[in-house]
Amino acid sequence: MKYCKRCVMPDTRPGILFNEEGICSACQSYDRRKQINWKKRETEFEEICNKYRGMNGEGYDCAIAVSGGKDSHY
Ligand SMILES: [Zn+2]
Repeated sequence: MKYCKRCVMPDTRPGILFNEEGICSACQSYDRRKQINWKKRETEFEEICNKYRGMNGEGYDCAIAVSGGKDSHY
């Protein structure tokens, strides 16, 4: 069995990939987060919110962000 050299995730995890250094795709994805322009993302998010804000009349708006499968939820 192969394990990620950073987080020890095993290769039995569905869809996992390893780079030539033995680092798993989840760890590589985490590293890419440092390259994201978070201020630009915030502006884009605000624009999306503004597009839908107030569509249901007066009162309040609510957005619920969800990810995860049936056995996990975040
Ligand atoms: Zn890893």
